[in-house]
Amino acid sequence: MRHIPHSLIALAATLESRWEDYRAKGEVDLFVEFTLSLNGLTEQLNRRHLPGLVRACQELENTALTLFGDSSMHPIPHDQANAISRQLIIILTELRRHETPAIPTRRQTDDLVERENACQQLRQIVIVSRPNHPATKTLSEQLSFFGFTPSHVRWGQTPGSDQPPLAILFIPEQEGRAYPPSAIASIMALRTEFPSSYFYCLSVPSNLQSIVLLQRAGADACVPVGDTVSDVLSRILDLAQTREQETHRVLIVEDSATAIAHVRRSLSQHGIDSRAINDPRLLLEAAAEYKPDAILMDMYMPFCSGVEVTSALRQVPEYHSLPVIYLSSESDIAQQVEALRLGGDQFLTKPTNPIILAAVVKTKIQRYREMLHSTRHDSLTGLLNHATAKDQIERMMHDAMPDGRLVVAMIDIDRFKSINDRFGHPVGDQVIRSLSWLLRGRLRNTDLIGRYGGEEFIVALPDTELERATVLLDQIRQDFSELPHAHAQGSVRATFSCGIASLPYFITSSSIIQAADAALLQAKRSGRNCLLRAEPESGLSVTSVEMEQSTYRGLQFSPFAVVS
Ligand code: GH3
Ligand code: MG
Ligand code: MG
Ligand code: MG
Repeated sequence: MRHIPHSLIALAATLESRWEDYRAKGEVDLFVEFTLSLNGLTEQLNRRHLPGLVRACQELENTALTLFGDSSMHPIPHDQANAISRQLIIILTELRRHETPAIPTRRQTDDLVERENACQQLRQIVIVSRPNHPATKTLSEQLSFFGFTPSHVRWGQTPGSDQPPLAILFIPEQEGRAYPPSAIASIMALRTEFPSSYFYCLSVPSNLQSIVLLQRAGADACVPVGDTVSDVLSRILDLAQTREQETHRVLIVEDSATAIAHVRRSLSQHGIDSRAINDPRLLLEAAAEYKPDAILMDMYMPFCSGVEVTSALRQVPEYHSLPVIYLSSESDIAQQVEALRLGGDQFLTKPTNPIILAAVVKTKIQRYREMLHSTRHDSLTGLLNHATAKDQIERMMHDAMPDGRLVVAMIDIDRFKSINDRFGHPVGDQVIRSLSWLLRGRLRNTDLIGRYGGEEFIVALPDTELERATVLLDQIRQDFSELPHAHAQGSVRATFSCGIASLPYFITSSSIIQAADAALLQAKRSGRNCLLRAEPESGLSVTSVEMEQSTYRGLQFSPFAVVS
């Protein structure tokens, strides 16, 4: 399993101390605090894709919820409290076992070896099936292509690696039949052994009983009969994709220093970062600088009302949907409705309960982020869409200037139209998806990958030397050209051409994108399936890597070969 960062260990420590407080005093409020803290931990584990631990926390949450009741039910009976303690110990032990050592896990350098090592931990996949099962072979091949390390064990065997795998895939003996009791027992045994791995049961018949039994045994996902290898791959790639751990950031607009102190304290107790301004006229500057995920807005301030500030804020396109939560002692329902109508999202009356405040803030931010995610990402590939990729490259350029490094690459699939024409659009779509997976699988989390157009991608690699980027992207080019894409009669291979440009030769985002694009065009003209670099002093230069591959020129008019 990957290392657990210190921020999660700190959350776990808070959880533990809340539980100890409750056990010492037995008060219902402390029990509520404990469950909220547990809920926060579950959320963080979920974002980090640690499904086994998520499951353990959710079970504990369910146990706790059944005991919620009112103050008359607290303290809860000893045996139930002991059961919670036991569940808690399992979770805490597992978390601490994987605590990150002092070195940061985040890869800041462009060192390929380091990049690969760090990826390895994330990429172990175990397939459980009978020996020589044909699906095992296909899956293993595809998984390897996308940068995973698959291994195989028979039913009943335990994988030998010291690192728990990212996922375990179970392929049953008979497709579409209920898993036999022996298989269920094996899954259960592995679940105890690998609480943090993600368990996929393949070829599960669509009947409720089978699914329930597998879930009880520890399956995280039951993949129905008929789902293709690519459906499974797509799920695994999503799993491996670690989203940047983002803190919740809240900007408080409030003229009372006491109210600010109270609100900030409540937020920080729940791990929410905040900043406050006491003059609403500073809002736009503060928002541009701090980039909040939500605003807590006082209703009554000296210069103008919270409602006025909010409707002014809504005039700025960037803040159209930024959540605004009003804080007010206002209890007049008509006024509250009017305030919401003019652009607020929620109304909380002062003094606010810290637990409710944190819960409202987190929920609003979560929704807002989901909304942003869907407006910024492409639905076919999950990559950044054109506009967002461009904006972010502009920001990356800005951050890298004047002395930093940044490489931008444009990638376009060769003769893609003929893939569509010969095998149909769905096959074309799958080729696009495969390339996006390959890029996601091979590049760092800090790299940007966008779908720039139909079969065109843009990539930006910060802190990367041009030479390194050339080798890395050319390797991806080669590997992509060997990847078979299934169609009704067999499989087809596709290639791409790539143009790259880098700082310091190009110093604005539009010039670097244009230069990469011009290099791409040149790569197309010089025969496709190659990579060209734009260097201003010598114009476009064919890289040495590409020179060695010049045999591809012979394929100019048939860039992909049909293999059966
Ligand atoms: P070149 O090597 O010069 O890039 O040739 P090409 O055929 O790849 O380029 P062209 O621009 O002529 O064709 C691109 C095709 O991509 C045309 C369009 O129908 C197809 N396309 C665009 N978006 C999608 C998509 O989302 N799915 C599929 N299947 N096809 C798409
Ligand atoms: Mg006020
Ligand atoms: Mg093309
Ligand atoms: Mg194109």
